[in-house]
Amino acid sequence: MSDDSQTSDRRGFLDKALRALGLLFAGGMVGHLAARDDTDDMVWQIDPDKCIGCGRCATECVLALSAVKCVHEWPRCGYCELCFGYYVDQRVDDLEVAENQRCPTDAIKRAPVEDPYYEYIIDEPKCIGCGLCVKGCNDYGNGSLVLQVRHDRCLNCNECSIARACPANAFQRVPREHPYLLRTLGDEDLHEEPAASSAPEPFQRAPEPAFEPAPDPGASPEPLDLPAGEPSAIPPTAGGGLGPPELNGRMGAGDV
Ligand code: SF4
Ligand code: SF4
Ligand code: SF4
Repeated sequence: MSDDSQTSDRRGFLDKALRALGLLFAGGMVGHLAARDDTDDMVWQIDPDKCIGCGRCATECVLALSAVKCVHEWPRCGYCELCFGYYVDQRVDDLEVAENQRCPTDAIKRAPVEDPYYEYIIDEPKCIGCGLCVKGCNDYGNGSLVLQVRHDRCLNCNECSIARACPANAFQRVPREHPYLLRTLGDEDLHEEPAASSAPEPFQRAPEPAFEPAPDPGASPEPLDLPAGEPSAIPPTAGGGLGPPELNGRMGAGDV
């Protein structure tokens, strides 16, 4: 066989292989979208009061990159001088260097607010939902870093595989229109009681008393938009985070 015909055979083979891969990819997308249930009124969410940061949220999701992400419950942060969500507690030479950071994927960014204090921002596309920072913040800080199922990614499986594996029984079904849960433990000083004339309460958890957002006399909070796009893509959004830019790695009373 001549060199020319061998080259043309190889090109033909490559073309066919690429076409086959393209079809497989397209098939996978369709399968993924078909698997996602956007019609159910209830969705999965993690109760941050129960989560112990065991690490299974990173490994048990049916998606290759877990639908669970860390978010920062902003009003709860203590602005600790040494953040144990950001740094490990056993630090080499007690230095504030990259080797002593807790996050394995460099998903926690910090910005100075007033020397020597920082605020911490989650870079969600990098977060694998391992919960290491959540455990550090919970053990040594105010517990303001929490894991939440992000609904722009979650397929809302009938039976969530993380829920099945969760040792703390922290997964529960919540109404789609209030898909995020704040901590409630020890939050008496953080949130005001609502006035009697406020709008009807959102979803309330049992058996713990539910978080009650302060009344907003201006307007009722915007419901979170749950986009119907392909959840497996890693998505750059306008806000830099995954999905609803309202959260963008942070969470507050207006988001639940
Ligand atoms: S599996 Fe349960 S306890 Fe473990 S990190 Fe996820 S929600 Fe928390
Ligand atoms: S859960 Fe925390 S430590 Fe783990 S990847 Fe996400 S931001 Fe990093
Ligand atoms: S419902 Fe499915 S996609 Fe969503 S967190 Fe659970 S396993 Fe992952």
